[in-house]
Amino acid sequence: MKFATLAESGTEYPIGKILCIGRNYVEHIRELGNETPDTPVIFMKPATSVIEDGGTIVIPPYSKECHHEAELAVLIGTTGKDIPAERALEHVAGYGVAIDLTLRDVQAELKKKGLPWEIAKGFDTACPLSPFVPADRVTDPQNLRILLTVNGKTRQDGSTSLMIHTVREIISYLSGIFTLEPGDIILTGTPAGVSAIVPGDELVAEIPGVARLQVAVK
Ligand code: MG
Repeated sequence: MKFATLAESGTEYPIGKILCIGRNYVEHIRELGNETPDTPVIFMKPATSVIEDGGTIVIPPYSKECHHEAELAVLIGTTGKDIPAERALEHVAGYGVAIDLTLRDVQAELKKKGLPWEIAKGFDTACPLSPFVPADRVTDPQNLRILLTVNGKTRQDGSTSLMIHTVREIISYLSGIFTLEPGDIILTGTPAGVSAIVPGDELVAEIPGVARLQVAVK
């Protein structure tokens, strides 16, 4: 079983659903040539895809193009269904940073065929995840910088202020479909700057003052 850790208290949550939002930043939609969705694009990663800070990414042999997507991660702390947006943040236990690893070549083929994305998004090691800081340490989840470097070079430098759907809206929307439970994690989409990683690369994803995550590619 995989756990999400809340800093300071050290509380551990068994990881449940990992719900991911696609196409939530305009510049990232443009860089991939996608259309802007009316409602959030949703997919899931299994808990088995999580690796911790210091872990190693293993790119599956069926892909030649693995992309990093640095994202604000939200840890759910209390159960909720049909949560109104104005109460959504009450259900958040903590915030962290995650990398939504994506096999872009595999995903492109699946998109073409109209098939689900799981094998491009949910493979083992596809979800590097930092420890979480308690929610009360983040005054505004829509005002956070998100950075990702590869071998010390900046590839992504965005802000959660540029999200199309806010954290409140995402929680409210998702809870209308899925009962949210403690230990569920939401990945809120990536800003622009995604690019391919190769064996030997060192990745650092960071939300300054909130979370930092360092992983290597095998
Ligand atoms: Mg993503």
